Amino acid sequence: MVTLSPRVSRLRANNPSPLTLDGTNGYVVRVGERSLVAIDPGPIDDRQRDAFLAVARDAGASYAAILVTHGHPDHYPGAAPLAAATGAPVYAHSLARFPHDRTLGDGERLTFGDGSRLATGDAAFTMLHAPGHAPDHLVFVLEDERALFTGDVVLGTGTVVVAPPSGEMRTYQRTLHRLRDEYGDAQAIYGGHGPEVRDVRAKLGEYIDHREARERSILAALGDGGAAVSPTGAAGSTIPEIVERVYAAVDRRLWPAAARQVLAHLIALEAEGRVVAEPLEREPTPAEAALLNPDLSRLDENLGADVIRAELGYGAKEPLVRYSVVS
Ligand SMILES: [Zn+2]
Repeated sequence: MVTLSPRVSRLRANNPSPLTLDGTNGYVVRVGERSLVAIDPGPIDDRQRDAFLAVARDAGASYAAILVTHGHPDHYPGAAPLAAATGAPVYAHSLARFPHDRTLGDGERLTFGDGSRLATGDAAFTMLHAPGHAPDHLVFVLEDERALFTGDVVLGTGTVVVAPPSGEMRTYQRTLHRLRDEYGDAQAIYGGHGPEVRDVRAKLGEYIDHREARERSILAALGDGGAAVSPTGAAGSTIPEIVERVYAAVDRRLWPAAARQVLAHLIALEAEGRVVAEPLEREPTPAEAALLNPDLSRLDENLGADVIRAELGYGAKEPLVRYSVVS
């Protein structure tokens, strides 16, 4: 357990991988002298559940609530066993498809306290609906510490996967702008993976800039007005061709995830009439298929295919499509 503030401690689940970094971050928030809130219990893992229980036992406290940021399998499944062990209700957004006891919506407040006020007073959270990475994503604002529990909206290191169909790039970008506009002066970001962030405005700015820069690179890779000639001799580019150019400096094991990011940008650009998509008649080559429709069981042996499928949004087989910029 790592103590992060007078109220907040972090318990990291034992599920490290390229997608989950050092593992999923669970948090315990002290909301009253004998009351705790658990955030993101993580995957099904007895050790992580027992770690949450040990914090309460050592503090002589009990859990008043279990909050879940979003319904991805590295964040929510541990909620049910923790609820069974503690009797605490599970809270999630109304769009959440996993079992929960109470629903939360944007702007709602949750107040806690047991009457025996801490020096800092009893705690309250404001809920922010923060879609883009996942439709049911919530960010929890711990009001008196001005701290944001951001789940997979903002991580301690690296960037977030925004993968169609449930991930939407423009929705995600709007969420980032809203967080910076309304909470740029927050004191801390406690993300779903990676270390805590203290310079909140800078981190949100970095995230916003990163997406805009990636989109410019994708458009540049497509060429001005479709003038670029792809290796197949035609104007425009396929996603594998774009990934090779835009993500040349990135670890190749992450290219299938990169392909999903490119697709998310292209879907937005196509909806805005800035690129056109034309399905190709041929089947993807093995190299193209490895990026578009990878064998999930071979992507990472430490990470279940369910996590990869959820995080990267794989569903139907992705066809080979040529994209060109509308001039
Ligand atoms: Zn996620």
